[in-house]
Amino acid sequence: MKNAEMLLREHQIKVTPQRLSIVGELDGHVHMSVEELYEAIKKKFPSISLATVYKNINAMMEKNFILEVKIPNKKSKYELAKASHSHVLCQECGKVEDISLDLHDLTAKAANMTDYKIKEDALILSGVCPACRAS
Ligand SMILES: [Zn+2]
Ligand SMILES: [Zn+2]
Repeated sequence: MKNAEMLLREHQIKVTPQRLSIVGELDGHVHMSVEELYEAIKKKFPSISLATVYKNINAMMEKNFILEVKIPNKKSKYELAKASHSHVLCQECGKVEDISLDLHDLTAKAANMTDYKIKEDALILSGVCPACRAS
């Protein structure tokens, strides 16, 4: 990915070492919960609080730089914004991965059946990942 500092500036987000560190973690792990981010960031910034990590994530979400991945019955995960995509969720280890699906026909059908104007066309499919199936 491009230099994190440059990306933050492009999104008019104030650059701080904590924010750079959050962006770096998300770049490496793709999807993380606030708690996972907090655990990782704390190693570099021992005095940081969970609330501060939250605040930083919210500030970057307001600028559409970070997106929330809402997971039914689980804590949300966060990712760096990118083109619309769906997710697969492992029910055993909680891992979330990106998957690119063409949902055009599905959303057209859903709109037809319900008369809703569909605004979000991302899905979360859940199952058991290859690593968990192997163990
Ligand atoms: Zn798994
Ligand atoms: Zn994703």
